[in-house]
Amino acid sequence: MSTMDDYDSLKKLDHSYIWHPFTQMKDWCEEDPLIITEGRDCFIKDARGRWYLDGVSSIWVNVHGHRRAELDRAVREQLDRIAHTTMLGVSNDAAIKFAERLVKSVQRSLGPSLTKVFYSDNGSTAVEAALKMAYQYWVHKGVKGRTRFLSLENGYHGDTLGAVSVGGIDMFHEAFKPLLFESLHAPSPYCYRCKLTDSTPDKCGRECLKEMEKLLDKHAGEIAAVILEPMVQGAGGMIVFPPGYLGGVRELCTKHDVLLIADEVATGFGRTGRMFSCEHESVSPDILCLSKGITGGYLPLAATVTTDEVYGAFLGEYKELKTFFHGHSYTGNPLACAAGMASLDVFESDRTLEAMVPKTEMLAGWLKEAAALPHIGDARGLGLMAGVELVMDKATKEPYPWEERMGVRACMSAREGGVLIRPLGNVVIIMPPLAISLDNLEKMLEVIAGGIKSVTS
Ligand SMILES: *Cc1c(COP(=O)(O)O)cnc(C)c1O
Repeated sequence: MSTMDDYDSLKKLDHSYIWHPFTQMKDWCEEDPLIITEGRDCFIKDARGRWYLDGVSSIWVNVHGHRRAELDRAVREQLDRIAHTTMLGVSNDAAIKFAERLVKSVQRSLGPSLTKVFYSDNGSTAVEAALKMAYQYWVHKGVKGRTRFLSLENGYHGDTLGAVSVGGIDMFHEAFKPLLFESLHAPSPYCYRCKLTDSTPDKCGRECLKEMEKLLDKHAGEIAAVILEPMVQGAGGMIVFPPGYLGGVRELCTKHDVLLIADEVATGFGRTGRMFSCEHESVSPDILCLSKGITGGYLPLAATVTTDEVYGAFLGEYKELKTFFHGHSYTGNPLACAAGMASLDVFESDRTLEAMVPKTEMLAGWLKEAAALPHIGDARGLGLMAGVELVMDKATKEPYPWEERMGVRACMSAREGGVLIRPLGNVVIIMPPLAISLDNLEKMLEVIAGGIKSVTS
């Protein structure tokens, strides 16, 4: 069978049997899909034999590249023992060892207070567990009425209903409103489109923090926790916090005695240049949600990491019913934990964070240059997590109408140049694996700039 026959038959089967996430299937079935069959390093190969640079890190999960020998070996070795067992009433060696290793890594970055790992299998479930934990923490402490959550506009915490309830992206979340619990929303620290002040970012008085404090005052005694994506709101469009914001939120949470849930599903594991992004402002959350990069991008796994204080509130006699009644079938999957362990080894052997520095600098330099292009309103990022916001009119910041799909068009143009990226609305997202070489990063940025120029000129 030739490659082409292969592709055509795969395409037909895909169209016959698959419903893709976040995809208008009518469009999808009218297009030639990209079908990935193989990967190596920071590249992926499609069923027609073309190689692409994986500029989206296979949706923000890949860290050390595809087919890293160390990770492959760890998964194979685990496979020779057992692929899956359960954490409900049983434990497994891979999950135990990885929990210790993960806590140590978290503590090196964020200090000693986070101590306990609650496993699940994706970012949304890590958040669901965090929300239920935070709510029940207060119940078990005998504090009544703490039933609400304060989150941010433009926040994204996953697609299950609890996670959507604390989400702040209207396009994704509005449709399900009747099904959701109500949450409080503080303004997003989105300096480029700040609704609170006319002052320039350097003269900014942190009005967004003041608004959050107003909500904490107004709803004193009702709020269980504040939940946010520390330092960068990812799916909201790579919105980078101004200095002092995250630290300010931590102070407010402490002052008003509410828990802080840090959703580091996207920012965790080196993505922003620190192992965990709370480290940028020396913030230690009460609950930390991790997934995406946790296995280096190999297998589904998540962790909700919390403190002795939160964990301790759930301890009691069996009949007190303080048990955390929550769990998933694939919780603490041994193959995934083995990959996670190997990924943390590679962070050490590759010195991944140190090796990122010149790449982060190159990207920051490129963003600065890109910001001068006529249809780029804002170019922002932290570490190897960046976004370029396309606007129809730079002076008025008027966005392109979303139906024009400018972001998609820019990314399709980059795809022709051999770079696979995926936009968020009008924001072109740049998210290469942390292991990308300087050369490949340079090529990737050239292709992306070319793609943006060709569709906006
Ligand atoms: C991707 C993401 C999630 C959801 O993770 P899934 O594994 O897709 O369920 C939650 N929070 C943040 C910040 C994310 O970026």
